Amino acid sequence: MLSVFTSPSRYVQGRGATAALGAEMAALGLEGPVLVVAGRSAEAMLGAAWAESFRKAGLVHVVHRFGGQSSRAEIERVNEAARAAGARTIVGAGGGKAVDTGRASAHELGLSFVSCPSLASSDAPCSAVSVVYTESGEVEEIRFLPRNPDLVVVDTEVVAKSPARFLVAGMGDAAATWFEAKACAESHARNTRGGASTRSALALAELCWRTLLEDGESALRAVERQVVTPSLERLVEANTLLSGLGFESAGLAAAHSIHNGLTDAPGTHGRLHGEKVSFGLCAQLALEGAPRETVRQVLGFATAVGLPVTLAEVGLADLDAAMLRRIAERSTQPGESIHNEPFAVEPAAVADAILAADAEGRAFLARAGRR
Ligand SMILES: [Zn+2]
Repeated sequence: MLSVFTSPSRYVQGRGATAALGAEMAALGLEGPVLVVAGRSAEAMLGAAWAESFRKAGLVHVVHRFGGQSSRAEIERVNEAARAAGARTIVGAGGGKAVDTGRASAHELGLSFVSCPSLASSDAPCSAVSVVYTESGEVEEIRFLPRNPDLVVVDTEVVAKSPARFLVAGMGDAAATWFEAKACAESHARNTRGGASTRSALALAELCWRTLLEDGESALRAVERQVVTPSLERLVEANTLLSGLGFESAGLAAAHSIHNGLTDAPGTHGRLHGEKVSFGLCAQLALEGAPRETVRQVLGFATAVGLPVTLAEVGLADLDAAMLRRIAERSTQPGESIHNEPFAVEPAAVADAILAADAEGRAFLARAGRR
């Protein structure tokens, strides 16, 4: 098996990075006209900065108001707008769904793609993955596209102004990266590109986890005050770049499959991706029989930043046996990344791991005097 490492062509991050968008695109040879796919709030906050930045770089641009759902119909509307504008590059700006829609459309039309997330809430911005939803919000399709973004621009001043809950959810998604990467390496699993992992991907995944431990709490304090600090910069890089490179080039394992299982339970629907992944990670550690020290470290980190470690915290305070079985079965469907664990995984073991993780999380909170 060949080793494969995949990444965006360029990653740019910092305070006021939006002002450099046009120049960074021009430096890479990305051409206009540019179609910016953005929701109402991203456009209100950044519209003037985009206009200025594109004008200086000599790029013509048009903004397409994102309809709110990364659905087939919305991708088709973006395709229409891109054709009408004669676009050569699509910029997906704002939340994950606007970015995913822009990415999917750029692929369908064979255009260049730039990712400009306004949140550090998941590791999707650097990836070549677009999630397509039904109009009512269920996951319909996960598209693994051939190319990563040509450019990723993260403006930390914008991230600092977003609700703290999104940054914390991003930490939940990022916390799983190292533990899932390690499981994949142990089992010699294929990564999202069908290749073997690299030492580079593993080193980045481990750095991601160390950065969360070091900077997670202080970055959260920074976002609560809406200020940009070196700690926030490092944490945003961990949530966005390190976690993105780690999951795509090393691979996912049980935490994300258990997340997928949890989405079957209506109680979890108000929870963000990274919040469910956080409990998924707790269950992965229980499933693996992870060392006591590791469990303590993960629970310590998660509870310090306010990530879920119990079923109640992901909206499943009264989970019944039938729903538990359904979650466990969904988590272990063929093709799920849980099968990247270095041992065979059965639904019964997952159901028990979920209950064990919940008990562990509740005991930890009780000891910490948090309930
Ligand atoms: Zn994720």
